[in-house]
Amino acid sequence: MSIVDVHNHLGGWSPDAGQTLEELLSKALELNLHGVAISDHYDADVDCYPNEDPWVFDAKKYMDAFYDLRRLPSRRKPGDPPGFLISVELGWTEAVTDELRNLLHDNPFDYGILSVHYLDRNDPFYDKQEVYQESLSDTYTRVINIVADSAEAVPEARIIGHYDFFSRYATENRSKMFYWHAPDAFDRLFRIMHENGQILEINAGTIDSLMRNKGYSLKDALPDKDVLRRYRELGGRFLAFASDAHYKTQCGRLMRPTLAYAASLGFRDWAWFEADELRFTRLQTV
Ligand SMILES: [Zn+2]
Ligand SMILES: [Zn+2]
Repeated sequence: MSIVDVHNHLGGWSPDAGQTLEELLSKALELNLHGVAISDHYDADVDCYPNEDPWVFDAKKYMDAFYDLRRLPSRRKPGDPPGFLISVELGWTEAVTDELRNLLHDNPFDYGILSVHYLDRNDPFYDKQEVYQESLSDTYTRVINIVADSAEAVPEARIIGHYDFFSRYATENRSKMFYWHAPDAFDRLFRIMHENGQILEINAGTIDSLMRNKGYSLKDALPDKDVLRRYRELGGRFLAFASDAHYKTQCGRLMRPTLAYAASLGFRDWAWFEADELRFTRLQTV
């Protein structure tokens, strides 16, 4: 498959991950991906962590460990192994805006992925009572407005990660996020993204989570078509595929059905960034 899986985590760098680089690369090779990226957590807001031990890593050490292994997908020749890129998943709260912007400015990441993992510094997994107090529409409207705030605050981050993260942990079983939950917030987000040249990620981790934990069928777990349709109407041409793999064998998960579904909605251009430059492959067939 000639696409790049833009979002994956490694044990030792992300506290919730358990795969080695060798395991990730061997799965990417098995799937004949065009490329794969590592994007470990950089959740810097200490106030989100009860023990004030945020999920950050030393970017200099990261580059020392991985930069020499970088292989650009755009320079890949037939028979070459998949490309390898270095990204970072930026956990945004307003308090860390400058820190995240400086991190991208000061280090040669290929691109940053912006993610919102907290609502008012509450964790949707551990603090469900605090996070899911209101209707899903009200909660998701707040969340998508925060995602929009993040996109506005860190315009140099090129990919907007898992907009639907909070649908994984809601107490309701039918918790999938739909456009109708938050139409104005989605419109605001997509307008900001278009202005900034930011690309929407389809996160297979959310699809997988809805299937495993909420009993959704694959068809029903795929992202809401109206979200993607509206993204397109407001200028979104590219998508990025993210397996958000934390463990071996998760790289490339649900890729084919996700790509086929997106193609049915008119999306064929799958993007990634190399040293901040947009690259993409156009799928002729899926
Ligand atoms: Zn995340
Ligand atoms: Zn992630």
